[in-house]
Amino acid sequence: MSSRSAPPESQLNQMESQPLHLADQQLAEIQRLSQMFPDLPVEALVKEDLLRIGVSFTRESLRHCANFKSKSYFIFSFDMVPIESMDQQENLRAPEEIQLVGGPWSFNRTTVSVRVNPHSPWRIDLAGDSLHLFCGREEISTVELQKIPDYYQQNLESGQPVHEVAPTIEWGYLVYLTAYRKCQYFGFKEECRFCDINENYRQQVAAGRPYRTVKPMDEMLEALSIIDNLDDRSRAYTLTGGSIIRKLRGQGEAEFYAAYARAIEERFPGRWIPKAVTQALPVAEQQILKDAGIQIYHPNYEIWDERLFPLLCPGKETYVGRSEWHKRIIDAVDVFGAANVIPNFVAGIEMSRPHGYTEPEAAVESTREGLDFFMSQGVCPRFTVWCPEPLSPLVKDQAAAGESQPPAPLEYHARLLVAWRDTHQKHQLPVPPGYGPAGSGQAIFSVSSFMDVIRVPQ
Ligand code: SF4
Repeated sequence: MSSRSAPPESQLNQMESQPLHLADQQLAEIQRLSQMFPDLPVEALVKEDLLRIGVSFTRESLRHCANFKSKSYFIFSFDMVPIESMDQQENLRAPEEIQLVGGPWSFNRTTVSVRVNPHSPWRIDLAGDSLHLFCGREEISTVELQKIPDYYQQNLESGQPVHEVAPTIEWGYLVYLTAYRKCQYFGFKEECRFCDINENYRQQVAAGRPYRTVKPMDEMLEALSIIDNLDDRSRAYTLTGGSIIRKLRGQGEAEFYAAYARAIEERFPGRWIPKAVTQALPVAEQQILKDAGIQIYHPNYEIWDERLFPLLCPGKETYVGRSEWHKRIIDAVDVFGAANVIPNFVAGIEMSRPHGYTEPEAAVESTREGLDFFMSQGVCPRFTVWCPEPLSPLVKDQAAAGESQPPAPLEYHARLLVAWRDTHQKHQLPVPPGYGPAGSGQAIFSVSSFMDVIRVPQ
């Protein structure tokens, strides 16, 4: 970890403006946490840090990246600056994901979703014809990119590119089908405070991306047909989008998403593992999804903490309520089977300002309580790492007050990985289905490291 190598020529000119002191702090923090938690792979610490504070790209590296599979903006922005602040057109050139391999830190292959942040101390640069990850002046690993899949080169009859309708993530494992690009939780009384779905829709349309609010069913089937013909890597699809609290095109939430699943399963029975992300719905509506073919159900609870849930998810609190949300998650065990109920939470928002915890240990203890609650009943929550997106209410409100909204400290994420791994092991749960392989060097789930650190039951 301590070996140092000279940065490539292309970055020397930028050195003056690089946040080197920040880089040194990050490296020192990774060192400290590696000693505190010696059984956490250092790759997972770096991955969490890349997810929480983003990564920057040199001009040369971006030119190189543009020839590989690029960010599809499949639902949220997952960036730390708005598109209008991307001076190097990162929104068009940055890769969807990177894999960190080998290098001075001898990394096991580690797959990481890309969150653009031109101010991050983590930087990708080109040396010769290969990419490398640096933190300040320290080289960490080689960076590999995913080739553009053949199906990404195809257009539908309507002219829409396949990757707009059916992008893939997790190194091509998961087809991500955002059927509804907006959310009916709207405005400060309803929308989740960490979420930028509606604002991201606006900025992507303004930037010229051919976003449609609702993806036409026939286009989705056509895109999947092309993938089915050209691809053998994808294994699962996720049907998702914003919440529907009134009707959308005459349908409630379950029926809206179930209609897509039904059509897909009729046309491609068994081709992919069918998954759906929706609100925690009443059992009768869960059954509609199940009957349509959905196998894995993600009724995301976002944050466990009783005090913070209503503050950060005001719409969910008003329309459903925290305890009812949890009850419905447990009810879903009878519909889908415990292993197939996998609610997500957004790791780090427990520490968001101004209401969140200030100590990582306390934040993780709160969240551990939720992990124990669900895992003791066979339900295995998973998480995505929160990066404060600039168009989300949490960041905008702080900015309006002249305050910043930093991500949760890396120590929080290290503690959470340990808490998740140990609670999962304590309750002897299986590897969650629908995420591909588990373990350091194997995992391809890219928006948090829970699959990288999991202890696989014997
Ligand atoms: S329910 Fe909340 S997190 Fe989900 S899309 Fe709507 S505002 Fe965003």
